[in-house]
Amino acid sequence: MTWYQPAPGATASGVPTGYHLPLGTVTHAKRHGLSADRNTGNEKTERKIILSGMQPTGQLHLGNLEGALKNWVRLQDDYDMYCCIVDWHALTADFNDTDGMQDRILQMAVDYLAAGLDPQKCAIFVQSQVKEHAELHLLFSMLTPVPWLERMPTYKDKRDNLGLDSYGFLGYPVLQAADILLYRAHLVPVGKDQERHIIFARDLAGRFNHLYGAEVFPMCDAKFTEFAEIPGTDGRKMSKSYGNDVRLADSPEETEAKLKKMFTDPEKLRRNDPGRPEVCPVFKLHKAYSPAELVGEIEPTCKSGELGCVDCKKQLIAHLNDALADIRAKRAEWAARPDDVWAVLEDGARRARERAQETMAMVRQAMNLQ
Ligand code: SF4
Repeated sequence: MTWYQPAPGATASGVPTGYHLPLGTVTHAKRHGLSADRNTGNEKTERKIILSGMQPTGQLHLGNLEGALKNWVRLQDDYDMYCCIVDWHALTADFNDTDGMQDRILQMAVDYLAAGLDPQKCAIFVQSQVKEHAELHLLFSMLTPVPWLERMPTYKDKRDNLGLDSYGFLGYPVLQAADILLYRAHLVPVGKDQERHIIFARDLAGRFNHLYGAEVFPMCDAKFTEFAEIPGTDGRKMSKSYGNDVRLADSPEETEAKLKKMFTDPEKLRRNDPGRPEVCPVFKLHKAYSPAELVGEIEPTCKSGELGCVDCKKQLIAHLNDALADIRAKRAEWAARPDDVWAVLEDGARRARERAQETMAMVRQAMNLQ
């Protein structure tokens, strides 16, 4: 795990912090004595704050479990966590596909709870239930130079590959920065592909603090975590859009059926052909879910041709189903009580709102707004 520390003065936009600010601006808020403590922004609690977010894609899969949820479950013991289901973000790309939104939110919340997120320890909530996200997004949009957004690599990629060209899509990083900074979060667990967005949020926080002479926002950092590589059943990255995922909601039988069809080493055509576990997606799942002793046995026996893929998969299916048994049991319990899941989300929104309203009072005061 590493923390990204930009070089002094470096920004996501490639220009020094404060470059875009008119000289002599500043410091209405210094007059008001607005200030958060150094690099915390958190005056009432000593625990650092983490904001995590995921778009409501519905039922989650093993890639989400290993790449995010397990990490969040560990973090909830040591940090004040806000786990946000970012439904407005989903609209930046899928604004014309909102029919199943509420069910996708519910399914995702069920998976959060099944994986072990504890609503007593972290606030689990839906972004659109805390309207302050929209207000901060609007205010940030006033001080965000458009070139900062146009330079974001994710913007260029998706604009060119998916044809996305809306105002909301361009402003996605501003909304994400608002999500993070609304809670004056210190850490944001993200994948490497999101690193630039966290740097962007830092830049925006610095720009706001400088413009209004108020240290409202701490400098947030990305929190990267090592996790097992989870390939999909076709060997590509596991993704719902590829149709290659194994879901937490799948039954043991559905899991077995999916894994039986999983790709293996394409050069191991017959049972006794020597295989290459290093290129085999089944072996990657073994490394994530099977005991180390078994993984140690598979490697040489695959290579020698002693082990056939059918037997190898049978062992994986047994260990994967064992590993998911508790999560599935909890999932079934929560799924049978949707009203309780919505109540968890409501309570999470109430707690999130408290912190958000505190931040917005500081922001409005700094900007001379009511
Ligand atoms: S024996 Fe197992 S590790 Fe080797 S190629 Fe077949 S499925 Fe992959």
